Amino acid sequence: MSNHLIDALKGASARAPERVFAMNAEGAALCSFGELFDGAARLAGVLQRAGVQPGDRVAVQVAKTLEAVQLYLGTVMAGGVFLPLNTAYTTDEVAYFVGDAEPRVLVCDPERAGDLAGIAGDARVLTLDAGGKGSLFDDLGDPVEPVARGAGDLAAILYTSGTTGRSKGAMLSHANLASNSETLRDLWRFTSDDVLIHALPIFHTHGLFVATNVALLAGAQVVFLPGFDADAILQAMPHATALMGVPTFYTRLLADDRLGRDRAANMRLFISGSAPLLASTHEEWEARTGHRILERYGMTETNMSTSNPYEGERRAGTVGFPLPGVELRIMDGEAEVAQGEIGVIEVRGPNVFQGYWQMPEKTAEELRPDGWFITGDQAFVDAEGYVTIVGREKDMVISGGFNVYPKEVEGLIDALPGVKESAVIGVPHPDFGEAVVAVVVPDGSGAVPDVGAALAGKLAKFKQPKRVIVLDELPRNTMGKVQKKALREEYAGLFEPS
Ligand code: AMP
Repeated sequence: MSNHLIDALKGASARAPERVFAMNAEGAALCSFGELFDGAARLAGVLQRAGVQPGDRVAVQVAKTLEAVQLYLGTVMAGGVFLPLNTAYTTDEVAYFVGDAEPRVLVCDPERAGDLAGIAGDARVLTLDAGGKGSLFDDLGDPVEPVARGAGDLAAILYTSGTTGRSKGAMLSHANLASNSETLRDLWRFTSDDVLIHALPIFHTHGLFVATNVALLAGAQVVFLPGFDADAILQAMPHATALMGVPTFYTRLLADDRLGRDRAANMRLFISGSAPLLASTHEEWEARTGHRILERYGMTETNMSTSNPYEGERRAGTVGFPLPGVELRIMDGEAEVAQGEIGVIEVRGPNVFQGYWQMPEKTAEELRPDGWFITGDQAFVDAEGYVTIVGREKDMVISGGFNVYPKEVEGLIDALPGVKESAVIGVPHPDFGEAVVAVVVPDGSGAVPDVGAALAGKLAKFKQPKRVIVLDELPRNTMGKVQKKALREEYAGLFEPS
């Protein structure tokens, strides 16, 4: 029987089921391809006996383990829809997702089972702990055959991080996931010779789909780490070939003296995404390791949409070109902007999701009837076709009626001596509507520069920060994204008359 995504993921590994799929940082085998898929097919049986029918959601809030990867594959084999949840979500937050998605089964850590049973509704609660054990295995039987599922059937619902309003469930089909991983495997040249360091969480599109699916599809091996761990990554590097990370992986590794050319000699590819990589990180990484990081751009709703080239120039500060098969345009409302102008990125292609779960109005707002998805990311395309993201539409500051793109101001501040990084936000202001505020993190080398004076001759007055705040670090989520909403809330009263 044919199951679109599982057939694709299993293909390369089915030819050599005894080959090691996952290893630890020392290189010791953890599980073979055959064991991975066999365990997944047994879990598919467990889910079926727990009542999962094709199309049913299986919500999962568990630590990163190989068993959790098997649960993902097993859900898809059972014809179900995998719904991973950030392990940081509280019971109240999980209650919203469970109420919205009405899963048939909810799998959680045994320590959370008591709390979550109270909000699980009709869902059957099963457990899986950080050691890969739990009641999920109580009813383990023989492997079952994958349930037939076609290209357009749903394989997963991933909730967006919900920085504005309610979190929305992005519905992803078998073909959305399979086609994107195939494109990335080919573009980034993943083969069965690769060993990918897998240190990203698997409740998010980056670690779950980009890293896991690409590795499986290519028949590549993974160094499977429960989370970011500089020691483990540096230990794994000499016997690995690729790393996928968020920008903070790279800045943290750069802070470690052990990182150098020798250690990275066996590596062929370092990929970054999910948040903007500072040009300075790109440059430092090349100086230290001899490798240019390949930056790509995507989001929960679209999988990956653009990538810097494998062979051509990987340009720092840009996210490269649209992926093969993906169309990209830059819009100002209903009209495409002139080349080089800033507007909102729209993408169309087999990567674009099927809409938001049970939110037809939200879907209609963001997904046009002809298939173009309005990403909300603002960018421009240069003469050579490289896409540069300048920020999220909602992060744009409108001061005195003029648009200020945070990235332009951040770029200048970041380049000042003594500055590690910065975040530019808009804060309510009685005269200007919003005022530009710069939150600056010093690099620890000495005095923080006078940002106001340094920018005075470089930027139009309306773009210059009206206030500079110095912090030890910027608030970030687990994917390394700066939480500008938290900063806006924190400093909302800055210009209130006292
Ligand atoms: P998520 O849906 O959690 O993956 O978040 C997607 C958002 O992350 C995008 O809409 C972008 O705003 C941002 N993002 C992802 N990759 C990049 C990148 N390489 N550079 C800048 N922003 C990025």
